[in-house]
Amino acid sequence: MGAICGESSPGQATIAPVADCLFCKIVAGDVPADKVAESDRIIAFRDINPQAPTHVLIIPKDHYPDLAALAGSDGALLTEIAVEAGRVADAEGVADNGYRVVFNTGPEAGQTVFHVHAHVLGGRRLEWPPG
Ligand code: 5GP
Ligand code: ZN
Repeated sequence: MGAICGESSPGQATIAPVADCLFCKIVAGDVPADKVAESDRIIAFRDINPQAPTHVLIIPKDHYPDLAALAGSDGALLTEIAVEAGRVADAEGVADNGYRVVFNTGPEAGQTVFHVHAHVLGGRRLEWPPG
């Protein structure tokens, strides 16, 4: 988990950005992203390499490396991400047919960006088990 920086204020990101973290750079506005939703604490944006007609990433503005780190530190923030996943699915028109929410965790599971993110995938039939 990153260091606490500056004064904390309710509802605002309080953990220092991590150097060389791509998603911290998106939060800072240093890397552009096609945002579909934003709150004080999270951003949802389209994946640059979509794996389905709907492929949106939801991240906390604070840097946590993975799902377990986030869940152990801020359950309310994890809930906000889960609620946003449902909103994205509604907005994209995939909620009725079904969609998948994925947190790849660790290299063998395909995690390549170590700033926790939920993938929201839908708009086509998704195979199970995953590859
Ligand atoms: P992971 O592999 O860590 O589960 O997911 C990282 C995701 O970030 C990948 O699906 C990848 O396509 C996406 N990604 C990588 N670089 C960028 C970028 O610069 N912008 C956006 N919007 N998505 C990115
Ligand atoms: Zn980060």
